[in-house]
Amino acid sequence: MHRKPLQAAARIERILFSVRPEIRDTIARLVEASADELVETFYSTLTQDQEAARFLSHKLVDERLHRSLRQWLVDLFAGDAEAGGVQALAERQKGIGEAHARMRISIHLVMQGADLLKSSIFERLQQTGLERDRLWEATVYATGLMDCAIEIMSQSFVRSTASRAQTDEAYRLFSLGQDITVDKESQRAALMEWSLGVLFSLSVQGQAQQVRLTPLSRSDFGLWLRHRAGVMFEGSANLAHIEKSMQTIDEELLPKLEEACSADPSSLPELLEGFQAIVGEMKFLLVDMFQSVAAIESGRDPLTKALNRRFLPSILSREIILATKNKTSFSLLMIDVDHFKQINDAWGHQAGDAVLRQIADAILDACRLSDFVLRYGGEEFLVALVEKDLEAAFRAAEGIRLQVGTREFLAPDNTPLPVTVSIGVATFDGHPDFSRLIEMADRALYTAKRNGRNRTVIAEQTQFRQAG
Ligand code: GH3
Ligand code: MG
Ligand code: MG
Repeated sequence: MHRKPLQAAARIERILFSVRPEIRDTIARLVEASADELVETFYSTLTQDQEAARFLSHKLVDERLHRSLRQWLVDLFAGDAEAGGVQALAERQKGIGEAHARMRISIHLVMQGADLLKSSIFERLQQTGLERDRLWEATVYATGLMDCAIEIMSQSFVRSTASRAQTDEAYRLFSLGQDITVDKESQRAALMEWSLGVLFSLSVQGQAQQVRLTPLSRSDFGLWLRHRAGVMFEGSANLAHIEKSMQTIDEELLPKLEEACSADPSSLPELLEGFQAIVGEMKFLLVDMFQSVAAIESGRDPLTKALNRRFLPSILSREIILATKNKTSFSLLMIDVDHFKQINDAWGHQAGDAVLRQIADAILDACRLSDFVLRYGGEEFLVALVEKDLEAAFRAAEGIRLQVGTREFLAPDNTPLPVTVSIGVATFDGHPDFSRLIEMADRALYTAKRNGRNRTVIAEQTQFRQAG
């Protein structure tokens, strides 16, 4: 396994040397000269494909992918046969495979794209007037090189995806075990609270008025169901039933109740009976779902009780899919303790640990049950705020910063310690690769440090989201 990089580079090298240098140069020039058209054909064909369209908003294509695909093509065919160049070329194909894995872009789609490019290159080759055997040699070379690149990409895609699948599974299993009793009670209470709210609105707003009822999907329970329950109870029949019921309530039952209030109050009792029945059934299914799962090993960091960092890819790629599908936002906070080293140096590691624990507490206190708080590094935390846009995330970050600022941190001899944090905020902008979002939050955090610490900085965002 450890010799893989060499093997990939060696494969590329063999193909580069299998062809006469002047033919390699002809193709390099041809690809370079027609790169823009090739890329154009590539995207205009792929954006008609439904799966592909999920990744390729037009803006995203225009602003970023266009350039990187063009560069990829030109560099691949540049035919740099020196050892370092080949090695770098192989590493780059791997990096692309890993990026595809993060974005969950399937191998099938990549192959489809590569086929498109290949046939466009062949068409152009035929117009060069190369004699037959040279044309043949050129075609074999171009196919071989492209296939080799895609193969290296696919191998690294499969490796990344396999390790991610394991983490996904670990995360799912872990989620089953976390604070299961607390979650069960809170969600049952949240459902009840919402249904009481509906009944209350009906009784006070009363007849002959326009009654507005809060959809269940917009309640705390709805939020939890969308973001947490899917991970905790993936594949559960109860869950599917609960989701269906939520839809029935929001799309059928609530509009009927609203209508009955003003138009036909005599139908209310029967409708309410139906309402109570469906909510009662949901409560039953919910409790049953919780009870049927077993507690398993903890996936939390033992010191701070924040989530283990290894769950990060599972959580973020899932949130990206949800945000894209539902056209909602979510945001990241990158939080780092200021001058933490000084606390360790002055008071010892144990005192440092106690401070870290309190900071994690403050962060967890300021977040909702549906948010994700991860220990990202030694004294760094990453928070994913679900369904929060940039402005709301900034407010949440300031909340955390003030929480930390007003807590009393004491050294072992009870001297008060001045503890502050710096925070970088970034919001999901439609780009399917979560590592980019983390980088943005990280850069904002760095700016916060540079500007004097104990502050929140918003990342410079490039807008990729499609209109509408
Ligand atoms: P800055 O404001 O620039 O972030 O300064 P800093 O001192 O916080 O940053 P730096 O990255 O230099 O130091 C972080 C320190 O955190 C270094 C490391 O010893 C300490 N640390 C990391 N993990 C733990 C931990 O689990 N417990 C304790 N006590 N210290 C930790
Ligand atoms: Mg740090
Ligand atoms: Mg620090």
